Amino acid sequence: MAYDDSNIFARILRGEIPNDTVAENDHALAFRDIAPKAPSHVLVIPKGRYVAFDDFAANASEAEIAGFMRLCAQVCALEGVGLDRGNGFRAITNAGHDGVQEVPHFHLHIMGGSIMGPMIG
Ligand code: C5P
Repeated sequence: MAYDDSNIFARILRGEIPNDTVAENDHALAFRDIAPKAPSHVLVIPKGRYVAFDDFAANASEAEIAGFMRLCAQVCALEGVGLDRGNGFRAITNAGHDGVQEVPHFHLHIMGGSIMGPMIG
């Protein structure tokens, strides 16, 4: 699947749509999900043009991957985000049709603040 520059996260990265940023570095942006499915629900996205997890894992540079993962770690530890309680969290990514991915720009959901429900059901 080719990357579509009109997707909503591409528009967020271009500053065309506001977002509730919690952390950022050269390679990635973390912001609160607009429709949270947990008390704390943050999305981490690479700044590069990657459709989904498999595209990012295969094609991102080492610096992009490191930058993305370090920002994830920062989000988990940030006071105020609500994931720093030592109680754990869930990190998932949806990919493609069967993964029911809505936005075709790779993103990791980091969710916590309460006990998560079952993965499927
Ligand atoms: O993994 P999936 O593509 O289904 O998730 C997309 C997520 O992006 C949803 O949780 C949705 O609430 C979120 N979203 C957002 N801000 C937007 C549009 C969608 O946080 N402007």
